Amino acid sequence: MSFTFAPFFLLSRFPLETAIISRNFDGFLLLGRRRRFTASSISRAQQANEPLLVVVGGGAAGIYGAIRAKTVAPDLGVLVIEKGKPLSKVKISGGGRCNVTNGHCTDKMILAEHYPRGNKELRGSFFSVHGPLDTMSWFYDHGVELKTEDDGRVFPVGNSSSSIIDCLMLEAKRRGVVLQTGKTVTTASTNAGGKFLLKIEKRTINMVEHVESDYLLIASGSSPQGYTLASQLGHSIVDPVPSLFTFKIEDTQLAELSGVTFSKVKAKLKLESIGRHMPQLTQVGPMLVTHWGLSGPVILRLSAWGARDLFGSGYKGLLLVDFIPDCHVDEVKSILIRHKDQFAKQKALNSFPLEFGLVKRFWKYILEREGLSGDLLWASIPNNSLVSVASLLKQCSFRVVGKGQFKDEFVTAGGVPLSEVSLNTMESRIQPHLFFAGEVLNIDGVTGGFNFQNAWSGGYIAGSSIGKLALSASLKEEAVS
Ligand SMILES: Cc1cc2nc3c(=O)[nH]c(=O)nc-3n(C[C@H](O)[C@H](O)[C@H](O)COP(=O)(O)OP(=O)(O)OC[C@H]3O[C@@H](n4cnc5c(N)ncnc54)[C@H](O)[C@@H]3O)c2cc1C
Repeated sequence: MSFTFAPFFLLSRFPLETAIISRNFDGFLLLGRRRRFTASSISRAQQANEPLLVVVGGGAAGIYGAIRAKTVAPDLGVLVIEKGKPLSKVKISGGGRCNVTNGHCTDKMILAEHYPRGNKELRGSFFSVHGPLDTMSWFYDHGVELKTEDDGRVFPVGNSSSSIIDCLMLEAKRRGVVLQTGKTVTTASTNAGGKFLLKIEKRTINMVEHVESDYLLIASGSSPQGYTLASQLGHSIVDPVPSLFTFKIEDTQLAELSGVTFSKVKAKLKLESIGRHMPQLTQVGPMLVTHWGLSGPVILRLSAWGARDLFGSGYKGLLLVDFIPDCHVDEVKSILIRHKDQFAKQKALNSFPLEFGLVKRFWKYILEREGLSGDLLWASIPNNSLVSVASLLKQCSFRVVGKGQFKDEFVTAGGVPLSEVSLNTMESRIQPHLFFAGEVLNIDGVTGGFNFQNAWSGGYIAGSSIGKLALSASLKEEAVS
């Protein structure tokens, strides 16, 4: 089916429905009562002959990119199409606090190491153009005070993601970005002149619009529709799989420890499919027992680095945990034998070496795993049993049997391959004037603000590139006329 596109203007195959929509556009409400962002119609995004950028997705990458493009090229029409509510993930992120970026990883090489997908490619110019410090300055300059917590996570001082949303929405409005919500970009193609032909649908009222744009920024996150658009424009897609999840462990006794935390463990994930040594599958940090398994930063990092292989194995693997990582196994044995001598007449459950920093509930679990009753006196525990306890504390195995739910943060690994995009500009290597930013790309980070940083950096670079292209195009036009 062929469509006719008037330059830059909205056309519809359903004039009656469009008329209704146009009226509805007057004063539609976004994000509740506080943030009113009006647009009369798509044509409002541009004046008669202005070039147009359409941004698919009003998430972190899309809104940041739209603002940047409009900042660099104020005469560029910028239209963001968002199928739901804009910045909805920002709202729920970081438990409603929004972990904006990471303040401890300002060196681009170290920063890149936090991205299981993208770690090699992101060592280039990506973060030099707009890294965590630039993000922090940007928000500071736009009125949001941020704080860096001990672990490097950066949050708004007021501990509310709304301050980030308000800031972005205000700036977008101030710059003249037009945002339309409740609409989905469903198909994309190009015409002979290299312009993008987009079909935009509003399913609730069975409306279809067609838009022609000069530039297209796909910032659709992990939405399957975004992958479809990229494919329609000639891109391949690395199969999307979940990342940042907890491990389901089959161990009823462990479940009884639900809520117990360890400030520092060393955990190694072993997967049958990974024969080679992969240093990232050993992580050190805090761990938490949940009622169905294990969670905490160490587990989430392992889930991210092992995401693809875990998916392939049906989320089956072996986890080896060292609960006393700062102590050599021989030292652990000596401590236990010394403790036996000193507390010979005490029950094993009631007295255990404080040096290990363990809680009683967990000590009971260890004794039970070794088949030792807590009522035994230390004097009656054979030394070889203590050697086994030491080994267990240093290398406790847990069978991973599935993937748990992690509601605080969750990302998708996979998407548009980085080989098909120039990270210097975020422009497609396949289709000129097509750009990508954020999670739609095959980039994902571990927890700690790294995923939003990818969105800010990518959005900024894409917006800058589009803005510069639009400026130089208008200069050329001026020179000709
Ligand atoms: C619960 C949760 C908490 C998180 N917390 C943090 C955190 O604290 N720190 C951190 O760094 N990361 C966090 N993340 C990850 C982070 O939210 C994402 O990596 C980030 O939002 C990606 O930004 P994006 O703009 O690429 O995609 P998104 O934020 O997903 O935005 C994409 C937008 O595009 C829209 N869209 C998709 N397809 C279409 C279409 N065809 N037409 C129109 N609109 C479309 C979607 O509705 C969506 O609004 C969290 C994730 C979750 C799920």
